[in-house]
Amino acid sequence: MSLADRIHLLKKEIPQDVVLVAVSKTKPAALIQEAYDAGQRVFGENKVQELVDKWEVLPKDIAWHLIGHLQSNKVKYIAPFVSLIHSVDSFKLLQEINKQGEKNNRVIPCLLQFHIAQEETKFGLSFEEAEEILQSREFVEMHHISIVGLMGMASFVENEEQIRDEFRNLHNYFAILKSNYFKYNPDFKVLSMGMSGDYKLAIEEGSTMIRVGSSLFGSR
Ligand SMILES: *Cc1c(COP(=O)(O)O)cnc(C)c1O
Repeated sequence: MSLADRIHLLKKEIPQDVVLVAVSKTKPAALIQEAYDAGQRVFGENKVQELVDKWEVLPKDIAWHLIGHLQSNKVKYIAPFVSLIHSVDSFKLLQEINKQGEKNNRVIPCLLQFHIAQEETKFGLSFEEAEEILQSREFVEMHHISIVGLMGMASFVENEEQIRDEFRNLHNYFAILKSNYFKYNPDFKVLSMGMSGDYKLAIEEGSTMIRVGSSLFGSR
């Protein structure tokens, strides 16, 4: 099956209101162009340098998402063009994104990344840490970032119930934060969860945005 066929098939399979982020990390620009020609416009990368390199050579109407861990000192390279940063996992990072947003005269959409997996290695905030950020006075005065939702990665395990529980947790956090901090903010609506191996479960548990790489582009 061609890449175009896989994209069309996946789009048909998922609900219309679920956004597909095609995760193109490690894949060449030519393959991204092929996906673009098949109609895909949202792509996710996990490394800043690779994201910048691809942004430079590919069509300018692509919505580029940064999905991987982001170091504060690299925000400046993507601030002019990035459509969504999925991986905000500290207050310091948020401050830097706000600063670079101001320099570029834009409001940069962000997701708070939560640590929902049992594995130690995954980045992300706890619920308490997220509340601390949202309750801070400094956060309220940041006008060049917009928190539009949450992101999380489930454990890389076979156990479907565990994965489901982790997604359910994230959905629950989303609902609580929505009602406590974003009740009247229609922009807070993104729940980014689900990858090649678990996007079906994620959608059943309320995902509005899936990040799929290997099942579209092949293994890395
Ligand atoms: C690589 C990556 C994905 C995509 O993973 P696949 O299993 O290839 O679909 C999704 N989200 C994040 C944060 C990633 O780093």
